[in-house]
Amino acid sequence: VTFSSLGLIPELVQRLTELKYSIPTPIQVQAIPAVLSNSSILGQAKTGSGKTAAFALPLLQMSMKGRRKSKDNNVSSLILVPTRELAQQVASSIQNYGRNLLPRLKIEAVYGGQSVNTQMLALRGGVDILVATPGRLLDLVSSNAIKLDQVKSLVLDEADRMLSLGFHDELAKIKSLLPEQKQILLFSATFPEEVKLLADHLLHKPIMINV
Ligand code: AMP
Repeated sequence: VTFSSLGLIPELVQRLTELKYSIPTPIQVQAIPAVLSNSSILGQAKTGSGKTAAFALPLLQMSMKGRRKSKDNNVSSLILVPTRELAQQVASSIQNYGRNLLPRLKIEAVYGGQSVNTQMLALRGGVDILVATPGRLLDLVSSNAIKLDQVKSLVLDEADRMLSLGFHDELAKIKSLLPEQKQILLFSATFPEEVKLLADHLLHKPIMINV
């Protein structure tokens, strides 16, 4: 299996060659075509499995199809993560994977502990891919810095950690702001009862991935 045979465009395949990613990992083999076909996914995967690229590559590719609304502070792909460290890390990985597509795409990260004003400026004009911690995202929605009603794809990365950090209510609030029709990709290393409940609530007949 090659990245090209999974349906990725040459700009992304070229970048993966530059990064010396010669073969896709198992989660990438399963997730990339599923995400490209707009399916929802329930994935059991740990850090180290290559899960960031598994969702980032197809979302980058889908963002190139002119999904971006350059007005009204909209976001096309929203990636929720539990911590600011992970937000920075995921955003920098996405920028790295998408290097050959920049500056046609706008990828930003917002998280607590950094100036809200700086983040508000970064969001002006809309964002193709936004990586966010739940609390800060809701603060920015409250101040009209970002709107979530045009989101096409939602990723919950490390859903178990988000719930164990107490983000249940924030996730419910964010869900209520999203459009009914959207793709959801939920990744978790473990599946305790509260993660199963969240998955049941969010996903209808998702593609199951276990690596
Ligand atoms: P992640 O599970 O997303 O945190 O990725 C774990 C590590 O694997 C990261 O350092 C990636 O750069 C690397 N990686 C992801 N996919 C591949 C691949 N197909 N080939 C080689 N390295 C990879």
